[in-house]
Amino acid sequence: MKSINKILLTFDVEEFDLPLEYGVPINSEEQMDIGKKGLDALHEILESQNIQCTLFTTANFAKHFPSYIFQLSKSHEIASHTFYHSSFKKEDLKNSRLVLENITSKNIYGLRMPRMKKIDPSWLKEAGYRYDSSVNPTWIPGKYNNLSLPRSLYHQKEIIEIPVSVSPNFRIPLFWLSFKNFPYTYYKKIAIQCLRKDGYLCIYFHPWEFIDLKQYKIPAMIKRKSGNELTVKLNRLISDLKNEGDFISMNSFLDQKGL
Ligand SMILES: [Zn+2]
Repeated sequence: MKSINKILLTFDVEEFDLPLEYGVPINSEEQMDIGKKGLDALHEILESQNIQCTLFTTANFAKHFPSYIFQLSKSHEIASHTFYHSSFKKEDLKNSRLVLENITSKNIYGLRMPRMKKIDPSWLKEAGYRYDSSVNPTWIPGKYNNLSLPRSLYHQKEIIEIPVSVSPNFRIPLFWLSFKNFPYTYYKKIAIQCLRKDGYLCIYFHPWEFIDLKQYKIPAMIKRKSGNELTVKLNRLISDLKNEGDFISMNSFLDQKGL
């Protein structure tokens, strides 16, 4: 019998500005170049696995590679990761949606804020979105504490919030840094726990993780498992999760739930 559990595999497609967070300079051309090389590596994984996912992209990145994003939009959902990864103004919400709709000739329904920044859901409603996925409902020291927020899908001011998945007990995060740093079998175990408990699993990564980042002076926990090593790990996870559920886009998931 085919499982009804849904796997929402998502990626934040963006200019690679992460070194700036650690005071390491990187110019915008190189940021774009690393983002594009990462997307090439990711594209190969998605093609060989033949799965559907959701790509949250900055409008800035999409404007640099419009035909690529259009091509990806035929197999995957394109959603917004705002306009620029390094700066934000309220009007970027609507403007990024319009740019992405223009590039893909499709409606854009979802938004994820860079670095999971807090966002007022009424702003998203106003900017024409259906859902938000900017909440990691756990505590990340020095970043955010969302332990008081629901850990699975909820409504907020007419916006559907799809938090990224954390374990049912102790809210152990399943985000990209966990996947990199946890032993594979442990990560897989809690991912499947989440999937069975909630009926869906929402996890996220970045294309640039799938290229070698060793040359950058960024923390070891970010670059230690990158490139091919991480590609092998993700392929293994996708293959294992195929036994547990179907991979679908965020928006199709909401459609199927009748939300
Ligand atoms: Zn991002």
